[in-house]
Amino acid sequence: MAATSEKQNNSSKPPPTPSPLRSSKFCQPNMRILISGGAGFIGSHLVDKLMENEKNETIKTNVIGTLNMLGLAKRVGARILLTSTSEVYGDPLIHPQPESYWGNVNPIGVRSCYDEGKRVAETLMFDYHRQHGIEIRIARIFNTYGPRMNIDDGRVVSNFIAQALRGEPLTVQKPGTQTRSFCYVSDMVDGLIRLMEGDDTGPINIGNPGEFTMVELAETVKELINPSIEIKMVENTPDDPRQRKPDISKAKEVLGWEPKVKLREGLPLMEEDFRLRLNVPKN
Ligand code: UDP
Repeated sequence: MAATSEKQNNSSKPPPTPSPLRSSKFCQPNMRILISGGAGFIGSHLVDKLMENEKNETIKTNVIGTLNMLGLAKRVGARILLTSTSEVYGDPLIHPQPESYWGNVNPIGVRSCYDEGKRVAETLMFDYHRQHGIEIRIARIFNTYGPRMNIDDGRVVSNFIAQALRGEPLTVQKPGTQTRSFCYVSDMVDGLIRLMEGDDTGPINIGNPGEFTMVELAETVKELINPSIEIKMVENTPDDPRQRKPDISKAKEVLGWEPKVKLREGLPLMEEDFRLRLNVPKN
């Protein structure tokens, strides 16, 4: 009897109030939104709108986030590291890219929210350094890969490995001759720690100068992971940089750092992690 009345009470209870964390600003940038039917007429427009908001979040994270962290560093007297990006060079006209190159960025393109966001973040770092004497370090990170990378966020190495394991075609975005240089994550971490422990503010390029076209990358993944897979050419997004390779002379000289793990060594380590996460055991 008691159980029944409790049950009745439960069914007439109002729904629980959502956690206040849901509307907290800290939750917003990482919020996940599931849209089923996103390929339909109104659904596809809804996705466009939400993606636009995501771009605003990217700018906000870089500009307001960096400002907040600089304020904190100033208050507690901390040394602060900005993990900037090779994207500050845009679609570079100088190859490979040294830190002294100011870049070739489209300020109004679809990628600008990230490129310009990071460029402003670098500006803020140097302004705080000059005005308030904050100890700053800036790393310009080139394409990095390795275990724990998000499986479905669309980066090329994670896409290719996941596709190879799922038995899907590898999607090379046209023209496929565009290049990137991929740094294994343990090398990256080593470089960042050396930068933080050293005396140079940077910016310092941290990346692996081994340069590959996207077709070469696809062929390597195919050969190492699934030789029976197809390689398919697909449309690209606008403003895709045609080439990117770090000049790491400064990192070598100032940090005594250079990457050790070659692409062919790093890919199998990432494959192992993706096999576990996607539940595709090796035969
Ligand atoms: N790319 C590709 N297939 C994919 C995803 C990306 O060919 O499935 C290409 C993309 O066009 C770009 C390169 O891979 O030229 C690197 O893209 P990613 O998004 O990983 O990094 P970023 O463009 O920021 O360097």
